[in-house]
Amino acid sequence: MTLTQQKSFAPHDTGTLYLVPTPIGNLEDMTVRAVHTLQQVDLIAAEDTRNTQKLLNHFEITTKQISFHEHNTQARIPELLAKLVAGQSIAQVSDAGMPSISDPGKELVRAAIDAGLPVVPLPGANAATTALIASGLPPQPFMFYGFLPRKASEQRAALAALSTQPQTVIFYESPYRLAKTLTTIADVFGDREAVLARELTKKFEEFNRGTLLELADWAADNARGEFVVMVAPAPEQAPTVSDTPLRDQVLAQIAAGAKPNPAIKAVAKANGVPRQVVYNAYHELEAPDDL
Ligand code: SAM
Repeated sequence: MTLTQQKSFAPHDTGTLYLVPTPIGNLEDMTVRAVHTLQQVDLIAAEDTRNTQKLLNHFEITTKQISFHEHNTQARIPELLAKLVAGQSIAQVSDAGMPSISDPGKELVRAAIDAGLPVVPLPGANAATTALIASGLPPQPFMFYGFLPRKASEQRAALAALSTQPQTVIFYESPYRLAKTLTTIADVFGDREAVLARELTKKFEEFNRGTLLELADWAADNARGEFVVMVAPAPEQAPTVSDTPLRDQVLAQIAAGAKPNPAIKAVAKANGVPRQVVYNAYHELEAPDDL
């Protein structure tokens, strides 16, 4: 791969592709820069032009739109690239939140980068990170998964791959599938702590906190609106305590080719004991009083 560098705000002969987030419910979350960008570009590539027109009307933006959604992505990309190469600037928007985040956009971004065109992201509304910061779950590390596959076998396989991850996992889910999906997550992950963020930034915003199965019960009767599902990290694996004396475990690792110090460290970790204890056992020393 050859290193390439984009200087976003250096003068260009080409146009720029701007990625513009839009509100996820509350129109006041439209940034001043987002409004200016939508006013100044030559064209807005929108997931649903009728939906975006309401936003444009609200902010008195008169820029022309072109549809760009999951069903016309491949056909539209060459057309949009040609306009960018010819010097026109384009803003890509989805119906709500960040383009490309469980929404159309990523193929256009890749194609623009491959064509050497500048791609400029604007910060702004996004359901996942908005939910995460008020969840009370560890905010990092976190894993944003988005929508799980709908097919049961694929969904379980995806969950199995996530089930031991020591990080908060964030899903998007529709209200119609929420209760069932929470039950399946509990089945694969164990009944962990989780948070449902509902209708973020809107009048009926709420956070429901409980275990996955408690939330599944709640969702069976109450799942209306939009939801972000956040699940607590996998609990740390309890070290497997071996009956073999610590010294013998170190000797076994050394016999298998390890050097003494790494062997001591590994045995300490595996048994959940301080390294000094294993060191002493290996060297057949008395344990110091303060251990
Ligand atoms: N691009 C968007 C973003 O940056 O968050 C996500 C679009 S995705 C098609 C829509 C999903 O995002 C919804 O099904 C829901 O899971 C989540 N979502 C969007 N807006 C939300 C809101 N106001 N409250 C809770 N979840 C929301």
